[in-house]
Amino acid sequence: MREESDWQELFGELDIEHYLETEGVRYRRTFGAKGTQLNMRECPVCGGKGWKVYINAETGLGNCFHGSCGQTFNKGSLVRALMSSEGSEVSWFEVRKQIEQFLARNGWRPKRKPSKEKLSNGRVSLPANVSIPYKENNLPYLKARGISSSVAKAFDLRFCAKGYYSYSFDGMTIRQDYSNRVLIPVYDLEGVMVNFQGRDITGAANEKYLFPPGLAGTGRFLYNGHRARGARTLLVGEGAFDTIALEMAIAGQQDFRSVAAVGTFGKHLSGVLNPDAEFKLPDDQCQVSELIKLKAEGLEELVFMWDGERKARNDAVKAGLFLRRLGFKCRLGVLPDDKDPNEVAPEVIREAYWRAEQIDPIRVAKWKAAKLI
Ligand SMILES: [Zn+2]
Repeated sequence: MREESDWQELFGELDIEHYLETEGVRYRRTFGAKGTQLNMRECPVCGGKGWKVYINAETGLGNCFHGSCGQTFNKGSLVRALMSSEGSEVSWFEVRKQIEQFLARNGWRPKRKPSKEKLSNGRVSLPANVSIPYKENNLPYLKARGISSSVAKAFDLRFCAKGYYSYSFDGMTIRQDYSNRVLIPVYDLEGVMVNFQGRDITGAANEKYLFPPGLAGTGRFLYNGHRARGARTLLVGEGAFDTIALEMAIAGQQDFRSVAAVGTFGKHLSGVLNPDAEFKLPDDQCQVSELIKLKAEGLEELVFMWDGERKARNDAVKAGLFLRRLGFKCRLGVLPDDKDPNEVAPEVIREAYWRAEQIDPIRVAKWKAAKLI
């Protein structure tokens, strides 16, 4: 599901002793032939309290020696076992979120790949850029928009100080200038970069956003979908910065552990058919087909948080009614009028999430009467 190297980087950074300490797990340090062993009082799997769990402080590998338990652990399965309570196992998605948040709180800076002219998977060639944070510094433009370094990293945002995107048109090579722009990579569900956008940071450019011609259209993909795999609930925004705002509102929130944020690149979900059309499953690569893949991995519910305007709510209801037929639960998040997720405080987003009502024919009639949609 997740890329192996991805997990390895995450686990590599996790100091398991520090984690146990922070979580209030009772353990004592012992010293064995293979180095420091963390001896835990209680086994999170069998519940035995006889100090029979030993975890290597360095590698996080270990065992439970209680009677018939025999459980083996690595960092991931240990964190997962500690998070799970009897009879309810948390998902790997939640484990990942928990570790990422622990690392973020402890000043973890993900490794920065050396970058200049960057080639990604041989498909999309980004203009020259540096990853953010750069030398542990956030980009002032992002900071001013309330976006932290760790979130910038999670969304793989880059900064192009001076750079171009070249493409062929009619036998000519055309260069599109991305200088002074934040590059926002777009990935498919497998984590392959398929497109990108360039957001001006000077406020002086004619176009706030630049889009490279000739690549697969963003409307076929869910922004941040590759990081939403395994999530039970999706918060659905429009643009990249809306999605980032949604993520910031749920990051570190206990109640949102199995919630992820995605963006649809507009008030439209590709693959949604109008209500009069004959019902059929989408066969092409589209946003609905991505949702169906996510459903197979545990997705149950979508909460629409498109922009705070009647038209957007109306479109969300249409999409929601269609997705109901595919077995999704859908709710309508209502933001203050004329406000996008990236224009409101995180608690306003969370409030809208809690208040969001099911999209069903009865409520739709009620909303119409109230002129909400
Ligand atoms: Zn045990």
